Amino acid sequence: MSEYDVIVVGAGNAAMAAALTARQHGARVIVLEAADPDNAGGNTRYAAGQTRTTYRGVEDLLEIVPDLTRDEIASSDFGQYLREDFLEDVGRLTQYRCNPELVETLVDNSHATLKWMREQGVRFQASYGRQAVNVDGRYKFWGGLPCEIWGGGPGLLEAYYRGAAQAGIEIRHRTHALDLILDSRRVAGVRCASRGETFDVRAKAVVLACGGFEANAEMRARYLGPNWDLAKVRGTKFNTGQGLKMALQIGASAAGHWSGAHSTCWDLNSPETGDLRVGDGYQKFSYPIGIMINARGERFVDEGADLQVYTYSRIGREILAQPGMLAWQVFDQRAVPLLLREYRIREVTKVTAPTLEALAEKLEGVDAKAFLKTMEAYNAAVPPGEPQINISVRDGRATNGLALPKSNWAYRIDRGPFEAYAVTTGITFTFGGLRITPRAQVVDAAWEPIQGLYAAGEIVGGIFFNGYPGGTGLVSGAVFGRIAGREAASHRP
Ligand SMILES: Cc1cc2nc3c(=O)[nH]c(=O)nc-3n(C[C@H](O)[C@H](O)[C@H](O)COP(=O)(O)OP(=O)(O)OC[C@H]3O[C@@H](n4cnc5c(N)ncnc54)[C@H](O)[C@@H]3O)c2cc1C
Repeated sequence: MSEYDVIVVGAGNAAMAAALTARQHGARVIVLEAADPDNAGGNTRYAAGQTRTTYRGVEDLLEIVPDLTRDEIASSDFGQYLREDFLEDVGRLTQYRCNPELVETLVDNSHATLKWMREQGVRFQASYGRQAVNVDGRYKFWGGLPCEIWGGGPGLLEAYYRGAAQAGIEIRHRTHALDLILDSRRVAGVRCASRGETFDVRAKAVVLACGGFEANAEMRARYLGPNWDLAKVRGTKFNTGQGLKMALQIGASAAGHWSGAHSTCWDLNSPETGDLRVGDGYQKFSYPIGIMINARGERFVDEGADLQVYTYSRIGREILAQPGMLAWQVFDQRAVPLLLREYRIREVTKVTAPTLEALAEKLEGVDAKAFLKTMEAYNAAVPPGEPQINISVRDGRATNGLALPKSNWAYRIDRGPFEAYAVTTGITFTFGGLRITPRAQVVDAAWEPIQGLYAAGEIVGGIFFNGYPGGTGLVSGAVFGRIAGREAASHRP
């Protein structure tokens, strides 16, 4: 008889949701984690902690953020985000390619799962910093993201690891899962490597929650295409696609957008993979209130196509297609006071100048003359008037007559001093993955469940295609992690 009922591969959000749930259903659980304790937890450790959930109003939010004060409630317009809003956002952004059963499972369990996370000791707070705008003295929340995890990804992991220690769940660090062990057609364990040794760990069921292939340059080039090998990795270096390879090797079905990934604006001079000291600080998400230009001095994307949380995950791909994989974000003094906190970090590639002409000389790698022409044409195309900039709504202030419009938040950029920030493509996670059922069972080529094999988190394919609504990764991992943990615990070989 094996020592364990359930093996969970990985120690990030999806994995820990699975491990804790399996334990709560009576299973003996072991977690196998490639990283050392300081780096364990994958992309979850880098996450800002924004969490998308359905809610009908402040009463539903109070179940997640119970310490909202009376004053906060009185001075805030939280709005609501209903089941149909969440479904529509995922549908629209994935061009309706997403697997409807999986997305319904995700949406219908989002609120209950955040409540469960709270019961595990995870704390949430209202997102006043990123997701609220002060309009006429009231905080208006926008984008379906009113709450975030206290302490971000590290805060989430701290609560999970505390819970795991209390529940007696062993986390074996520096342990790389290499292969799945089969007993006939049933998954019966994992072949591992640790400190130069290989060994087997056996159990009745295995949950794969070990991320996508975003940190594997070879797989990025192979599946995402040319130059994706040059993208910066926003998070962990440990998500190398090994879990995907192990499952495909035993006949698991691949699903979803294997040539697609979540990728965004990331500091040009950031390191090859994430730096925990800086976390998500290398991101630069205020582009809707400025413009972005490439090395030719031209705009290349509609910076105001939609609310930032609905466009940012597609922009990395747009930057990748530009010469030198480089873009500069340009702002004037209308926008500078509104820039998000990540623009104020020490590790930033930034230039400032009192005039656009002087700025043009400082934009390294950019055709200065063409840049000034772009600015002139852009400023001439901006509608008249100066209402307060409000990023919580699509304000309809679109440019007039430009071949590439800016559809919202078009304000003149002519009030110095000017600031510009250099960015490149930062990949967050890959969209392609394993095909699962709504019960988190990994299926084979006949779409029949492979006995004893479950998956959750980034390693799952079929949920996100092309685009992604911000704050959905963590909730998706937790929803399917909980389901995988429950199913794996009750699995009878
Ligand atoms: C900078 C940044 C900011 C983000 N912000 C947000 C946000 O605000 N909100 C949101 O919802 N999402 C956010 N995301 C996305 C989110 O972090 C991820 O979607 C989510 O954390 C993935 O969880 P996971 O459990 O699937 O994978 P991970 O958290 O990456 O965990 C995978 C685990 O598997 C381990 N592993 C990998 N290979 C092996 C192997 N062979 N053997 C053993 N272990 C292995 C890794 O070490 C890791 O512990 C952000 C991501 C980044 C990078």
